[in-house]
Amino acid sequence: MKTPTVGFVSLGCPKALVDSERIVTQLRAEGYAMSGSYEGADLVVVNTCGFIDAAVQESLEAIGEALAENGRVIVTGCLGARTDHGENLVAKVHPKVLAVTGPHAADEVLAHVHAHLPKPHDPFMDLVPPAGIKLTPRHYAYLKIAEGCNHRCTFCIIPSMRGDLVSRPIGQVMREAENLVKQGVREILVISQDTSAYGVDVRYKLDFVGGRAVKTKMTELVSELAKLGVWVRLHYVYPYPHVDEVIPLMAEGRVLPYLDVPFQHSHPRVLKAMKRPASGERNVERIRAWRAVCPELTIRSTFIAGFPGETEAEFEHLLDFLREAQLDRVGCFAYSPVDGAAANELPGQLPDEVREERRARFMQVQEEISAQRLARKVGTRQWVLIDEVGPKGAVGRTAADAPEIDGVVNVRTGRRRIGVGDLVDVKITAAAEHDLQGTLA
Ligand code: SF4
Repeated sequence: MKTPTVGFVSLGCPKALVDSERIVTQLRAEGYAMSGSYEGADLVVVNTCGFIDAAVQESLEAIGEALAENGRVIVTGCLGARTDHGENLVAKVHPKVLAVTGPHAADEVLAHVHAHLPKPHDPFMDLVPPAGIKLTPRHYAYLKIAEGCNHRCTFCIIPSMRGDLVSRPIGQVMREAENLVKQGVREILVISQDTSAYGVDVRYKLDFVGGRAVKTKMTELVSELAKLGVWVRLHYVYPYPHVDEVIPLMAEGRVLPYLDVPFQHSHPRVLKAMKRPASGERNVERIRAWRAVCPELTIRSTFIAGFPGETEAEFEHLLDFLREAQLDRVGCFAYSPVDGAAANELPGQLPDEVREERRARFMQVQEEISAQRLARKVGTRQWVLIDEVGPKGAVGRTAADAPEIDGVVNVRTGRRRIGVGDLVDVKITAAAEHDLQGTLA
């Protein structure tokens, strides 16, 4: 009898990717086969994103394509939770889908798969590695430490889709991390909606890691991960005071000197209107203090230009902040209203051209800063984790580059043979706008 086969399309952020991995892992554990093509699959699961309008469109198109090519489609993810005039948006646009769930609903998705494509009889449980099947390349993996968010930023609808913060116990998170390392993962990317708030919901409850009682708290988690001997990269860190405690670990080389801090703006009034967490902190001073402890710290951030009510003076404040903060990697979105977000009701909505023009001015200022900071690396030696190897050379990343969102290093390897996942010593010879070039040292 043919093994029931499921196709999987995973869209959206790393958090959605982790949900996809859970579902795929469970399906494999139950004996389902996975297919990389629509034709080879008996049914297709589409994990969607519903964060901004462009993502909604992309997700709706992906569902349409899966329906046209395969015909039997189950939809999950953030878009699955969205409604339009009280009706489920996905079911309204694509009434032929077999089932729709919201995000973080692995059990529900599995139940739908079982109903439409019954489980095979003899699952080969042993074929599934202990940390599950990863959709990322073997040498790096995302580690989701919590789900949901206690904040209510006015431009965001994630809390209404994913609920309040729920932290995973630190023992469970560390077991997953240890299993990943055993499987050959060389870089762990810590993710959640608000990494600095890890454990707040469970009042930093004690749990066991290797027989020791350890608090479910960000600083403790980072110290534990630092013992694993792999790269540890922190994403979505808000600048709460206790973040200062992890900077010395970065200076000592125990975790990557890299912080992904979504500042979104600099002006106190705009931050207040956005209802951003940690908005009262003096961020330029904090950044200076972090760099005094750890000069090689790379800071990545994201911003919104043209938020409702933003005046020209407030926008200039943001540009001044950029010039002072000298961030390394920065993304900027022109404000775009998200269906259901509180910011849509704020007075002073700006015309599209103003939002777009501010975004372009922002990027002009930042691109120069980023390029200058990157150019300083020419002539230095950097450890590079290799992501791809081709006939003429290899592509990898330094501690300053997260996969997918930051730059890369193009490495000339000459006759030396290196493999994906190798950590190699590279002399940096040139810098472009985003990427570096180098040769093996
Ligand atoms: S911190 Fe704000 S932007 Fe981030 S998930 Fe929570 S509500 Fe959304």
